[in-house]
Amino acid sequence: MNNIYPWQQDQWSQLGQRLQAERLPHALLLSGPEGLGKLQFAQHIAASLMCQQRDQQAQACGTCKACQLLQAGSHPDMHTVYAEEEGKAIKVDQIRELSDVMSRKAQLGGYRVCIIHPADAMNHNAANALLKTLEEPGEQSMLILVSADPGRLTATIRSRCQQLLFHTPEPQQSIKWLKEQGVKDNLELLLSLSGMAPLQALRFANDDRLQAHSDFLQQFLELKTGIQNPMQMAAKWYKQHPEHCLQWMMHWVMDLIRLKSGASSHVLSNKAEQQRLQAMAKQLDLINLFTFLDKLQVGVRQMSTQVNVQLLMEDLFISWIKTR
Ligand SMILES: [Zn+2]
Repeated sequence: MNNIYPWQQDQWSQLGQRLQAERLPHALLLSGPEGLGKLQFAQHIAASLMCQQRDQQAQACGTCKACQLLQAGSHPDMHTVYAEEEGKAIKVDQIRELSDVMSRKAQLGGYRVCIIHPADAMNHNAANALLKTLEEPGEQSMLILVSADPGRLTATIRSRCQQLLFHTPEPQQSIKWLKEQGVKDNLELLLSLSGMAPLQALRFANDDRLQAHSDFLQQFLELKTGIQNPMQMAAKWYKQHPEHCLQWMMHWVMDLIRLKSGASSHVLSNKAEQQRLQAMAKQLDLINLFTFLDKLQVGVRQMSTQVNVQLLMEDLFISWIKTR
């Protein structure tokens, strides 16, 4: 059984009480930033609903037939819809399959549970098909939508779900948890790079993200001195972590603005890089930094469209060189 993360306790106690009292809605929308374990939370709800002997705290037993089937991924009344490829849409056929599970009788006699993750990946037709299921929920059925971007769901879908919000935890709680997972170094930086989301920070601790971040900052600053060529730099980085590169640039520019405005160092998102950023801030004008920040924000929005990422990065690097 997967466990509830420490920062999900409030949401679980709200839901657990209603679960015990059998006063649950037919559809839930779990929303909040990426990297907080919303999908695992949805699976935890499913386990609890399907368990044939859950305990006083509404936790699944982990040993009954339903629990065993669920752990093996073969419970006939449990269905999860994913985007077939990351970043791709959830299609209408996938929702029709889900509706089929939701409309028939439970094979094990308990709840039928469907999870859609991420729900905002449903295309227009899929969302329309889902509405019908939302309008006519069967007895003992639960539909759980998971989304980091619920604004992309239609208002009609949102209004038919009860929303459960997840927030990034306090840094101390995340740091304690990351230490328990064996992460020892750069905890604050990892959290800052991951938008304060602990699961994302853990992923970053286990890949090359910190090294990439440090290398990219070095080269970003070197663009100004002519050591780096913007075209070559774009050709290199657009293949690696383009969406993160743009986010990082935004963080650095915001830190430059903070430094220019005389903010104290504890509000910086990159405290470890204060010296390098401070030296750069001295050479730049505040208004021009704001103009460049605007361009970056437009660039971040364009990343989710069909834009040519390499060209976009070239353009931003050249604007950065021109920012005085
Ligand atoms: Zn059980």
